[in-house]
Amino acid sequence: MRQIIVIGSGPAGYTAALYAARADLRPLLIASSVEAGGELMNTTEVENFPGFPEGVMGPDLMDKMQKQAEKFGTEVLFEDVTAVDLTGDVKIVTLASGEQHQAHAVIFATGSAYRKLGLKDEDRLSGRGVSWCATCDGFFFRGRTIAVVGGGDSAMEEATFLSRFAEKVYVIHRRDSLRASKIMQDRAFADDKIEFVWNAEVVAVNGEERVTGVTLADTATGERRELELQGLFVAIGNDPRVHLVHGQLDLTEDGTIAVQGRSSRTNLPGVFAAGDVIDPAYRQAVTAAASGTVAALDAEHYLAALHEGLPHHAVPAPDGDPVLATA
Ligand code: NAP
Repeated sequence: MRQIIVIGSGPAGYTAALYAARADLRPLLIASSVEAGGELMNTTEVENFPGFPEGVMGPDLMDKMQKQAEKFGTEVLFEDVTAVDLTGDVKIVTLASGEQHQAHAVIFATGSAYRKLGLKDEDRLSGRGVSWCATCDGFFFRGRTIAVVGGGDSAMEEATFLSRFAEKVYVIHRRDSLRASKIMQDRAFADDKIEFVWNAEVVAVNGEERVTGVTLADTATGERRELELQGLFVAIGNDPRVHLVHGQLDLTEDGTIAVQGRSSRTNLPGVFAAGDVIDPAYRQAVTAAASGTVAALDAEHYLAALHEGLPHHAVPAPDGDPVLATA
């Protein structure tokens, strides 16, 4: 039986594991078999993580976080969790291999998954021109005409990165102003290869074997037109990954795991959540890391009270609330 299992390997998961390991709780971190390292693995240069004035590549940052967590005794498993049973005092985590792990406390740091446009041919043409990851697939579009859908930081980052390879990059946005931060907007506006297509919605992805174009609808007039291109990068945000906890943990209206106040405590004792899976608003690597810290400290207090056999209200958590939340 473990003290604590962390599910997820982005900044929230590794930071939670780092703190838990330094508290001598010897955490097991389950990192996923294909998406280990979280969203920063699909990022190029991270310029806003404190302590790196020259910037740091996303995968390098995650590698450092993993090493730092392991240095203090975190055990990392690169497997997928397929089921969790969180309701009892002993939490059970089942892996794709069928192996089960038990712990007194679990921290969910499962992040979020790319949002899809929801179009008929989107999945069929995935890997055949439709992509969600510029850093993974950008290289294949050297000299091509492509488009990025979205108006947030992700879309600007992808478009700016893709203009290194592509001949032409359209940014298709459903409104006439961007959601992205000013610095990211300015960078995209200054890029000669990027052309903005405003007030436009992609209503169809066209192509048999590969993407040959998209059909756009004007969001004001409804007028339709075709745009020829060979690649479509979808960068329209993310949805929290909560499929494992449906029916066990309370969710918010935004679909994130509900936590109590500024803590990481969920509706179940011994179950904590951190990072993008609880955060519909800020969603930065540094806020996720901070959130992982909160979860580790909350879990540490919970375990201390549990092992001392104290009543629910006896040991105040860092935020002053009872450690063992009653469901
Ligand atoms: P986001 O900020 O939620 O932006 C999503 C964009 O996609 C919005 O412009 C939205 O349009 C559009 N959109 C959403 N659903 C759509 C749909 N079905 N069809 C067409 N367009 C749709 O998501 P994000 O850009 O992925 O950024 C998420 C968070 O990560 C943000 O906090 C961001 O600051 C952060 N981030 C930071 C960096 C960085 O600092 N380097 C890089 C990437 C991301 P509307 O504007 O009309 O809603």
